[in-house]
Amino acid sequence: MKIILDLDTGIDDALAIAYTLAQPKAELIGITTLFGNVTVDLAVKNSLNILDLLGHNEVPVFEGAAHPLEEKDYQTSDHLHLIHGFNGLGNVELGEPTRQKEQQTAVDFLIQSAEKYQDELILVTAGPMTNLALALQKAPDSMKKIGKIVSMAGAVTTAGNVTPHAEANIYNDVPAAHYCLTHDVKMLLVGLDVTLKTMITGKEINHWLVNNNRASQVFVDFSNYYYSNEYGDSAIGGALHDPLAVALALYPEWLTDSIMQNLTVEKENFAYGRTEADLSKLKQTQKSSEIAIDIATDEFIADFISSVERVLSLGK
Ligand code: CA
Repeated sequence: MKIILDLDTGIDDALAIAYTLAQPKAELIGITTLFGNVTVDLAVKNSLNILDLLGHNEVPVFEGAAHPLEEKDYQTSDHLHLIHGFNGLGNVELGEPTRQKEQQTAVDFLIQSAEKYQDELILVTAGPMTNLALALQKAPDSMKKIGKIVSMAGAVTTAGNVTPHAEANIYNDVPAAHYCLTHDVKMLLVGLDVTLKTMITGKEINHWLVNNNRASQVFVDFSNYYYSNEYGDSAIGGALHDPLAVALALYPEWLTDSIMQNLTVEKENFAYGRTEADLSKLKQTQKSSEIAIDIATDEFIADFISSVERVLSLGK
């Protein structure tokens, strides 16, 4: 299988890159970037730096959306700085990348890859759905040829993490998420319903230091920043949001419960950003979204820790 990661490259995105590179059955053919945890410039820079640190400079990085569909600008919040640091990597400085992003845009790379690989392609979006929405608007027939689209997004049976109703990737571009979810795109949503079952702490991550190299130290440092700050308590830790989306894309057997639904996103009123059933389609038998509800948590976490350790051992 070929896989593309669509990332707003903060800390759990970086962990998703490492986890994907460890997978024997998937080839990471590109990273498309956008605003979200960080500005798009930082998403590009962090992606290039993480790939370099892991010894994977063959993976191309494409620049995507700089702001939400219906806005002209984007600025990261104090809350994001607290969780991901000012640079998106827990304030761990990696310097300037040793190579450049690609000239082609993220949207054009997504469309070209959809046409080229079709069923063989898995797209995992782990940021706002802006690049996906733009690609769908530009070439819907091409994009619908993609074998599988998995999005770390939403909170259907749990509370949100930005507001009581909204999950961050949805909240950061509600019109884009609304567009994707209401345009008949078959998608697996890996939202807070399941990602909050993957909480880990620094204790598990510190294990990577057995490698005794720079890549492992950097990953442990920024992960500890994240796991100390996501819930403000290092004993509670934080969730493996983005890596879980990769895992469920590649190991469907780890998805132990899900519900099918046609979703919409609340665009008005107090519940802005809530992912909810589209009332106008409740009677339709055809459902476009599969919502992950339960997972094989222990299998995933064990695989995540050992897979990333393996990738880090081959890094700088
Ligand atoms: Ca992300």
